[in-house]
Amino acid sequence: MQKDTLVFDLINQELERQRNGIELIASENFTSLQVMQAMGTVPTNKYAEGYPGKRYYGGCEIVDQIEQLAIDRLKKIFNASWANVQPHSGAQANTAVFVACLKPGDKILGLDLSMGGHLTHGSPANFSGKNYVALHYGVKKDTGLVDYDQLESIARKEKPKMIICGASAYSRDWDYARIRAVADEIGALVLADIAHPAGLIAKGLLNDPFDHCHIVTSTTHKTLRGPRGGIIMVRHDFENPFGIKDPKGNTRTITSLLDLAVFPGIQGGPLEHVIAAKAVSFGEILTDDFLAYGKQILTNAQAMAKSFVNRGYDLISQGTDNHLMLIDLRNKNLTGKKAQETLDKAHITLNKNAVPFDDKSPFVTSGIRVGVPAITTRGMKESDMETVVGLIDKVLMNADDENIIRSVKGDVQAFMKKFPLYPELG
Ligand SMILES: *Cc1c(COP(=O)(O)O)cnc(C)c1O
Repeated sequence: MQKDTLVFDLINQELERQRNGIELIASENFTSLQVMQAMGTVPTNKYAEGYPGKRYYGGCEIVDQIEQLAIDRLKKIFNASWANVQPHSGAQANTAVFVACLKPGDKILGLDLSMGGHLTHGSPANFSGKNYVALHYGVKKDTGLVDYDQLESIARKEKPKMIICGASAYSRDWDYARIRAVADEIGALVLADIAHPAGLIAKGLLNDPFDHCHIVTSTTHKTLRGPRGGIIMVRHDFENPFGIKDPKGNTRTITSLLDLAVFPGIQGGPLEHVIAAKAVSFGEILTDDFLAYGKQILTNAQAMAKSFVNRGYDLISQGTDNHLMLIDLRNKNLTGKKAQETLDKAHITLNKNAVPFDDKSPFVTSGIRVGVPAITTRGMKESDMETVVGLIDKVLMNADDENIIRSVKGDVQAFMKKFPLYPELG
């Protein structure tokens, strides 16, 4: 068969783009070469509906071992008693939790999207906001911190069946115990969606949600630095408190309902080549190298936040506990859209982001979200953060000067040569 040069040329162009740029999108990372290599392998050819040892097709004896290895390693990372590694994405993982735990029309309570939450936490544009009655808490205007008082008062008044914590654009740690306490008062379940900080939680660098939250979901491709995908975990199993039964009408534990929700509830055949790559990345997370990586993320984020503050940037909550920061650009007379588009021209990639109580539309926004996981994987240390912030600042302070932007683009490209990406790929 003739090689599809059209597609492979584009893939090579994407490799060069990734090599040349400063990647600050907080949800992105660079997997190891072996994680990528595992993804491009023959389990992609295999149908394996079901779970290890309980498949609907023959010939699953090898993929069973791959999937079991992924499950066992993941349980070890988080000290979980059960895990499902089949969700195709973080959104799929959350969907499965809804299907396992709730009936359509039940009330849920999550962080508002405009305050840093995620679409799957009850946005009207998403299944979670269409099929369930979605209530939202926010952050406090003066501190930028989650408004736990508001969360508690909505919970007591509305009695949602599930409270969701976790966020996509929140730079502080969570008080999981406090959320569990109010959930127990009203008989609600707590879902922790740790899609963003999972890699830091894995190494004990942030609060551990597992003893306080009934169910924990995550992506595998953000700070966990694995292939694109989702996972669901539980440390303490229990019976669904809302009388949800399996298709035969039997009462089941939540973990078996979660397995049924992923397959056959919302997905068909699992992506065993991606699960193989998940297993490889979980093996990496179990090493001390990954602990060093997590610590460097925190050090870099602190250094970057300090550097932004020193240049007069307005950080929501004045700083960060994790891998990202949210910056309100209104005091710099810039919108998030303008900042994103201008930085893009200089090969600095990040995303515009609504800030809490934003007065601009989600397509414009007043802020940007900046994350360090990807540049930390590239090998940057805290001393490099001043350089990165200096380049960003130069672009933003000269946002209409094409000559300056072009010169920064050259500086970015030269700087990134110090941090080789996939040298093995030539
Ligand atoms: C990224 C993210 C997800 C969704 O992940 P996808 O893999 O893009 O579906 C879910 N929840 C939160 C909090 C996220 O940040």
